[in-house]
Amino acid sequence: MSENPTDTAEPLVDDEELEVQASDEEELDPEAAARRQAALAHVRKFGDPVLRTRARPVDRFDDTLRDEVRRMGAVMIDAIGVGLAATQVGILHRVLVYRVHQQSPVSALVNPEIEWSGSGLETAEEGCLSLPSVHVDVERPIHVRVRAHDEHGEPITVEASGLEARVIQHEIDHLDGVLVLDRVSRSQRREAMKALREALPA
Ligand code: ZN
Repeated sequence: MSENPTDTAEPLVDDEELEVQASDEEELDPEAAARRQAALAHVRKFGDPVLRTRARPVDRFDDTLRDEVRRMGAVMIDAIGVGLAATQVGILHRVLVYRVHQQSPVSALVNPEIEWSGSGLETAEEGCLSLPSVHVDVERPIHVRVRAHDEHGEPITVEASGLEARVIQHEIDHLDGVLVLDRVSRSQRREAMKALREALPA
């Protein structure tokens, strides 16, 4: 998630605030703002067909993969995001990185699969690094269990709740070519498209 909410987070603040913080460049010092702009230049934006393409499972856990993960983590951090999917940087691999607390290390999930979702749903605002200026309310399960591998090929299971669960679901959507625009009401989508038209050069 991104400039945005889902791609951005900090402890003890809600998604909405996070997103606002992330997208408010006036709050960043000039160096951080420049770093953010440089990172965002690597992120594919709405209209790029890669964002609508389903990513392929990873079958080689090699240095190339670990390098991808490292670079994705750097882009996410510099862009002040809380999550990033490989498709967002034009790589059609089922890989995502996320970090919902600033002091935590970046986590990578390779070939993630949602194994279980709780029945409880929650609606919260999300942004997306690929959808500048878009903030929409998305309903998602609060709790999920995800099976994946780390970048070394070790199987891992993540039990996630709240923002962490939201970010992971948002990024897995990207790996399936799904955007938050697909998960909101028609009126929200209309507003979002208007914001996108203003934010993205024609
Ligand atoms: Zn996104």
